Amino acid sequence: MPSYTPPLRDMQFVLHELLNVVDELKMLPAHADIDVDTINAVLEEGGKFCSEVIAPINLSGDKEGCQLDKVTHEVTTPKGFKEAYKTYVEGGWPALSCDPAYGGQGLPFTVNQFFYEMLNSANQAWTMYPGLSHGAYECLHAHGTEEQKRLYLTKLTSGEWTGTMCLTEPHCGTDLGMLRTKAEPQADGTYKLTGGKIFISAGEHALADNIVHLVLARLPDAPPGTKGISLFIVPKFLVNADGSLGERNAIFCSGLEHKMGIHGNSTCQMTLDGAVGTLVGQPHRGLQAMFVMMNTARLGVGNQSLGLTEVAYQNAVAYAKDRLQMRSLSGPKAPDKAADPIIVHPDVRKMLLTARAFAEGGRMLQAYTVLQADKAHASDDEDERKDAEAELALLTPIIKAFITDNGWLATSHCMQVYGGHGYIHEWGMEQFVRDARINMLYEGTNTIQSLDLLGRKVLQNNGATLKKFGKQIAAFIEEEGTNEAMQEFVNPLADIGDKVTKLTQELGMKAFGNPDEVGAAAVDYLRVVGHMVFAYFFARAAKIALTKEASGDPFYRAKLATARFYFAKLLPETASLIRTARAGLKPLMEMDEALF
Ligand SMILES: Cc1cc2nc3c(=O)[nH]c(=O)nc-3n(C[C@H](O)[C@H](O)[C@H](O)COP(=O)(O)OP(=O)(O)OC[C@H]3O[C@@H](n4cnc5c(N)ncnc54)[C@H](O)[C@@H]3O)c2cc1C
Repeated sequence: MPSYTPPLRDMQFVLHELLNVVDELKMLPAHADIDVDTINAVLEEGGKFCSEVIAPINLSGDKEGCQLDKVTHEVTTPKGFKEAYKTYVEGGWPALSCDPAYGGQGLPFTVNQFFYEMLNSANQAWTMYPGLSHGAYECLHAHGTEEQKRLYLTKLTSGEWTGTMCLTEPHCGTDLGMLRTKAEPQADGTYKLTGGKIFISAGEHALADNIVHLVLARLPDAPPGTKGISLFIVPKFLVNADGSLGERNAIFCSGLEHKMGIHGNSTCQMTLDGAVGTLVGQPHRGLQAMFVMMNTARLGVGNQSLGLTEVAYQNAVAYAKDRLQMRSLSGPKAPDKAADPIIVHPDVRKMLLTARAFAEGGRMLQAYTVLQADKAHASDDEDERKDAEAELALLTPIIKAFITDNGWLATSHCMQVYGGHGYIHEWGMEQFVRDARINMLYEGTNTIQSLDLLGRKVLQNNGATLKKFGKQIAAFIEEEGTNEAMQEFVNPLADIGDKVTKLTQELGMKAFGNPDEVGAAAVDYLRVVGHMVFAYFFARAAKIALTKEASGDPFYRAKLATARFYFAKLLPETASLIRTARAGLKPLMEMDEALF
């Protein structure tokens, strides 16, 4: 069975040495009292919970999966899931970054995000039960009426109830404008919803007393397309005016999906048969309200792959130090043993270092981005809020797609380190690969994230937000321009910065001629920009490591080695990506559909 040790040292490095989050957070009135010790203590305790309670039920949960009783429509989750959820609720973990007005602890999102990285390393399938609640909480916090907030937020905060997001239908996933679920207004101000949803994560289970489904549906007078979608709260059990539970609502699980990974999570087909719901926000403006939940979920999905990358790396390293096969090409490194440990072989190291660099890079990017979410949410300066919102919007598709693509590569490499044993269930590595694969698909496929980045976030505002981020990079390069020791990092960083600027301009011009050019280049483009962002953070990390290397702390030597590996072996991937992005639309569209 795989093991998991929370990477607290690296988390502390990112939080306190790279980003100085305490100084940044203290500027926000809601977090004026935050300090280093509180953050570290929460993460240490959270790490214990993840490694001691949640990780041990990951492999067994994958093997066991979920069962549906087709008569009662109840879903049984794997052994230990319910008990672990009880411990999670009793520990107050769901409330970490929720609003104190609803019983939350009011800690920054940044802290919660790191806690969630550890939960995801420990058990992605389990983590999706509470994970979606947080998005539902945020959506209702932003768009619910006072009455809805009173009835639902306290219970979501405490974790007594969980949440879901019900968007997808059999004929519509990416194109939500086609959805058909109907909502009929009733005389009492409620709505009756009828239709079918599929692929609903944590749609049914017995971990919590109630499930708050956030459902997209159409009102009778809805205009076609995305402008005719409304959002409804449809609880599993109706909620009385005093907050107590009422009758069972007519929304139930009619089937469980049999799927490649995350077996411990119930992915449900949901039937709404005149289920009672209440409208959230304005009629026909449901998609805008739901975007609050979707954006939170996109950051969350990036975090899922970050967690998997870290845990896969940790186990692959342990295996590579232990497994003896062949001798090093340059002569035995462990002459007293029957063979050398496989960590002596350059390619095994390449696989390990790739996973390590993806984990460390992803952690820096996640933390920086979620810090912007804290600012966007809690700053009392409108300009700062707007800037942070823009940066958050720019970086969200990069987190979702770049980190999840990397997670797939990293888990696959780590499985490869195990040789044939990686393919065998009991080692846990093939589960990480299977679990990681969904992260590239749901919450908007990675193609859709790329279109969002290039089409909406970059070209639609003439690259203004990207340029602003670029200025931050340029300022760092300028600052380090005369620092001899930093040249190996700032020169390639400056180079990729220039290339992104040129590529963006070129694609912008092409898109004027034919908008399909955006679709032809977007996936490569996102990966190039993702690398630029990683290069910036690795250069900043390297600067700190160079300054502190003399302390003798091996952490900084390792950080420097990882940064050097990243610049030498991973960043150069951008050269071929830029070529393929520039190759444009023609090679993709030349062939007649009939010839496929
Ligand atoms: C395990 C699991 C859990 C899920 N959980 C939830 C959940 O909790 N709630 C929920 O509502 N949904 C959930 N989903 C649904 C998920 O979000 C959708 O599957 C996803 O959004 C893609 O939709 P689709 O499957 O219909 O694919 P499609 O939309 O049919 O896409 C098929 C392919 O076409 C591509 N494509 C589509 N449009 C374009 C375009 N304009 N340009 C280029 N390429 C395009 C896509 O990228 C994809 O490769 C889940 C799915 C799974 C498998």
